[in-house]
Amino acid sequence: MVTKPMHCIVWGAGLMGRLLAHSLAQAGHKVQIYDAADPQGNGSAARIAASMLAPLAESAITEWPVVQMGQYSLERWPALIQELPAPVFFQQEGSLLLWHRQDALQAKTLVDKLYVNSKQLPDACTPVSINADQLIELEPELGGKFQQGLLLPREGQLDNRQLLDALLQSLQKYKVDIHWHSALSMADVQNMACNGVDWVFDCRGTGAKADWQQVRGVRGEVVRLHAPHVNIHRPVRLMHPRYPLYIAPKPDQVYVIGATEIESNDTSPASVRSTLELLSAAYSLHSGFAEARILEINTQLRPALNHNLPGIRQSSPRLLQINGLYRHGFLVAPAMLDAVLGWIHGDTTLAERFQLLQDA
Ligand SMILES: Cc1cc2nc3c(=O)[nH]c(=O)nc-3n(C[C@H](O)[C@H](O)[C@H](O)COP(=O)(O)OP(=O)(O)OC[C@H]3O[C@@H](n4cnc5c(N)ncnc54)[C@H](O)[C@@H]3O)c2cc1C
Repeated sequence: MVTKPMHCIVWGAGLMGRLLAHSLAQAGHKVQIYDAADPQGNGSAARIAASMLAPLAESAITEWPVVQMGQYSLERWPALIQELPAPVFFQQEGSLLLWHRQDALQAKTLVDKLYVNSKQLPDACTPVSINADQLIELEPELGGKFQQGLLLPREGQLDNRQLLDALLQSLQKYKVDIHWHSALSMADVQNMACNGVDWVFDCRGTGAKADWQQVRGVRGEVVRLHAPHVNIHRPVRLMHPRYPLYIAPKPDQVYVIGATEIESNDTSPASVRSTLELLSAAYSLHSGFAEARILEINTQLRPALNHNLPGIRQSSPRLLQINGLYRHGFLVAPAMLDAVLGWIHGDTTLAERFQLLQDA
């Protein structure tokens, strides 16, 4: 029910832009979208991501508001997906943390940290130590290789590309005016904002760097495999001396292996070193990956703010900038969405609860 339809421009149609545009259009607002790239989302971090929804696992490296947003969003995703005109794979059967014998010491530090952090979450999220037999029950094909591990119950994942596509279909259904290959500048947007536009939502991710000093890119490299000889159902995190590696199973026996995390705005193709590390990690988890086919090796930048937390700032009366989704965009997006929708209706409760407010 809309009391007063607004005219909104969504600037950037990656994860946050599509989600926001969908909700605004569904609520009866007039929405226009401008994106620098194409309907497939090439050019967005959203297309490359593994889209794991792992608040407790992320708690090891992030601040508490992100974990809270993750908990909130895990509850919200099923309803959001339900609204969409096409199916989106969503799973909440927990994720696994595994380690090879030589990484046991490093794993213990992480496991201890996760137990401590989990005390602030509902009991259902408490990690469960598992032995080799329990691992066989959970993931039969991983049994034998690992003597122990940790199950993080209630963690989830979704299919990022199905989500982008289903959101696009929803925008088309609501006849949203979409302009692809349209990289607008701040001057373009300011001109538009003078012509009866109520709100411009800047969802450009790293594309906003020139206009928001604290925005930076964090390079991530991932490999997409088709592995018909591998049956793993849950996302698996594997201890690694340099960065946590994960294997995220998607529908149709596709696996996303990721991800490096490098402080750089370099979007050149993945390095040999990173690719070797990612692929050897996959092979060390399951020898069936040896016969997998490499579908893609991708590089993309995660949009981060200086404190690595998400943020919203109102840089002029009609311009709301939403950024800093960093390595947990899918984890926090529904919470960001509700905070933004609240904000434009004068309710900053969620934005304050999740400490999203940034100085203009
Ligand atoms: C390797 C990798 C792995 C990841 N894994 C996970 C994960 O497992 N779980 C998780 O929760 N998150 C993950 N993420 C993070 C997640 O993908 C991002 O946080 C999220 O996509 C950010 O959303 P966004 O909408 O802000 O930016 P994006 O998704 O990057 O979208 C920005 C959009 O703005 C457009 N744009 C840019 N400049 C302009 C311009 N001037 N004019 C118009 N349009 C413009 C771009 O074309 C793009 O479509 C991962 C990211 C990467 C790179």
